[in-house]
Amino acid sequence: MAPGSLVAACRSLALSTWLLSFCFVHLLCLDFTVAEREEWYTAFVNITYVDPATSELRTEKTECGRYGEHSPKRDAKGMAALPVAPLDRQACDPNGRFAVPARAGAWVALVAGGNCTYEDKIRHATAQNASAVVVFNVGSSVVNETITMAHPGTGEVVAIMIPEPKGREVAALLERNVAVTMTITIGTRNLQKYVSRTSVVFVSISFIVLMIISLAWLVFYYIQRFRYANARDRNQRRLGDAAKKAISKLQVRTIRKGDQETEADFDNCAVCIEGYKANDVVRILPCRHLFHKSCVDPWLLDHRTCPMCKMNILKALGIAVSPSQNGKILTMEKEGKALIDRSIIDHKAVDTLGRG
Ligand SMILES: [Zn+2]
Ligand SMILES: [Zn+2]
Repeated sequence: MAPGSLVAACRSLALSTWLLSFCFVHLLCLDFTVAEREEWYTAFVNITYVDPATSELRTEKTECGRYGEHSPKRDAKGMAALPVAPLDRQACDPNGRFAVPARAGAWVALVAGGNCTYEDKIRHATAQNASAVVVFNVGSSVVNETITMAHPGTGEVVAIMIPEPKGREVAALLERNVAVTMTITIGTRNLQKYVSRTSVVFVSISFIVLMIISLAWLVFYYIQRFRYANARDRNQRRLGDAAKKAISKLQVRTIRKGDQETEADFDNCAVCIEGYKANDVVRILPCRHLFHKSCVDPWLLDHRTCPMCKMNILKALGIAVSPSQNGKILTMEKEGKALIDRSIIDHKAVDTLGRG
């Protein structure tokens, strides 16, 4: 691997690592900052009434209620009262009245959930001086379920939610004209941690964006690498073609018996380290060095230099390899200069240079 590509690989690895750790830290931060906390309070609900069947005083106290989000967290007490109209147990009618017992001081409105907002119900009850509003959950799939009601701007009235069975129990007593006293007291504080939908969306989007950036960068990196490799191959091919062209221009000679190359003191072929014999075909390079044709041709294709003196045959023959983009091989020959004319370099010339 070339030093350049090694550096590039290291850089890509470093960047990938950096991106991954960035994603991780990002997710970790989001977990801490975006996860929301919800605080809510339970309410003890105490109901006291005289049992119509046995005339006994009965008292039940359960921690079944839940304070509304915007309700003051304090105790409240009063006679329970339903809306007068049997069809408006939800207290959605602004003009609907509550069946407040005659001598009751403070009273607590008992309304069914649904049909209008919690704010509406609470406002309609407080307009008639209710000291607390108890909403019972309706239509929940889970028995005894309550939720934290949101009812902004309803003032200082205590608002709680109780489960449906409890609400129906009290409503049934009130419908039978049994006076029920309700006492609401603060229960336990609860802290619920949850991740809101918007934060999930935010986390997902930022993660996806980071992934896209990383992927785009990777794709870009590999395209660059591919292009680099392609250009290198093309260049290699061009050089090979130029070398073939140069080789075709070099002089070839067949050694004859009695030629000075066959003498014992003549240099051996530098490629195969063998001496020259009669009928050997030799290639003569522009630097006047000669080698077996079969020895030097493959070498020249690969190296394009003389094995002895390293002279570049492309330069010597004036064959310029252009860095053209379209992959076409453009070779230019410098006029006259260094161009080996086979008719000029004859046997005799080689003869005299071979000894030197
Ligand atoms: Zn040889
Ligand atoms: Zn040479």
